[in-house]
Amino acid sequence: MPEALGAGAATLDAVVLTHAHLDHSALLPLLYKYGYDGPVYTTEPTRDLMGLLQLDYLDVAAKEGRTPPYESAQVRETIKHTIPLEFGDVTDIAPDIKLTFHNAGHILGSAVTHFHIGDGLYNVAFSGDIHYEDTRLFNGAVNDFPRVETLVLESTYGGRNDYQTDQEDSEEALKRVINETYEQGGKVVIPAFAVGRSQEIMLVLEEAMREGEIPEMPVHLDGMIWEATAIHTTYPEYLRDELRNRIFHEDENPFLAEEFNHIDGGEDERQDVADGEECIVLSTSGMIEGGPIMSWLRHIGPDPDSTLMFVGYQAQGTLGRRIQNGWDEIPVSDWGNGGRGDTLSLEMGVETVDGFSGHADRQGLENFVKTMNPRPEKVLCVHGDERSVQDLSSALYHDYNMRTFAPKNLETFRFK
Ligand SMILES: [Zn+2]
Ligand SMILES: [Zn+2]
Repeated sequence: MPEALGAGAATLDAVVLTHAHLDHSALLPLLYKYGYDGPVYTTEPTRDLMGLLQLDYLDVAAKEGRTPPYESAQVRETIKHTIPLEFGDVTDIAPDIKLTFHNAGHILGSAVTHFHIGDGLYNVAFSGDIHYEDTRLFNGAVNDFPRVETLVLESTYGGRNDYQTDQEDSEEALKRVINETYEQGGKVVIPAFAVGRSQEIMLVLEEAMREGEIPEMPVHLDGMIWEATAIHTTYPEYLRDELRNRIFHEDENPFLAEEFNHIDGGEDERQDVADGEECIVLSTSGMIEGGPIMSWLRHIGPDPDSTLMFVGYQAQGTLGRRIQNGWDEIPVSDWGNGGRGDTLSLEMGVETVDGFSGHADRQGLENFVKTMNPRPEKVLCVHGDERSVQDLSSALYHDYNMRTFAPKNLETFRFK
């Protein structure tokens, strides 16, 4: 595999990155290790978030005794080769290919990419990961292009039953859990990804406290959340109109509200927080697979008055999913704190509040395609488990009479 990749890497003309999440960006530095020396086209916030997440990935791997396939030198190499583009810029990335980025509404800097090939001969739009409706953080994904023949569409929630709770109902549920936990004198611990949902939850909490819907209390941010949030504040032009205006004109940046506290004092600070008053903790990793959330479970897990609240998808096989399914004896030897074979019994309450996804649900994906201008001739459904991809592909074929495909890994397509 490395040799095959090595041979291929050097022959690439360009790399285009839709957004910073590690399922899209984690292996980019490996291309430079295997001889690629060309550009990476992406947006400015994606470049910054990508570097942050890749370095965090190396850091967490080192702490857990794993050997990642590349080092920080290759992360720097990747960032050095990045050519940042703004939404709407048209750029030649090869003699016969023009690239344009448009807002995708998924995370900061995320882009739908449009390729204009061979003097208008053929046009392909890659959705990347999208959110179709507006969210608190972002305007919804753009689906309006000069020309499109083929759409390559993400299918994360493309399954026939993948409909999400309304944002408003989700926010109500979140506030209810916080109020109930507060009333019994406990703390709320929320495992979250550093980029995307953390900032969305921060906005909900800031507003709810300002409007007196939940009591004012400290919100502690642990892991890369603080740094990722700072990058959001650096690029307000990529945020939703109302939020951007608040940050630009009204000098009332919600991310700088006084309840937010950066945990930068390590274990001592966590211990103090655990021994202290009612509060909310937002910490990585989002699926409880390592990172500071492990310390929080150790400190607060035995407290029956506190609540562990899931707000994001928990993949099969993760500790997060097992806890959701009722596991309350957690092996602590995995966390590198000694005591091999020890277990922690989780006494805190466990709640799941869904609907905070950065992805379009099944309805959103259909709406993205249905209202797309112009209407694509072909749709390739990708980025989802097999069932979701198949479901979405056949629904678009039956309901909208489009030629659709559910490509397998390594399958090749000739567009024209
Ligand atoms: Zn993503
Ligand atoms: Zn993704």
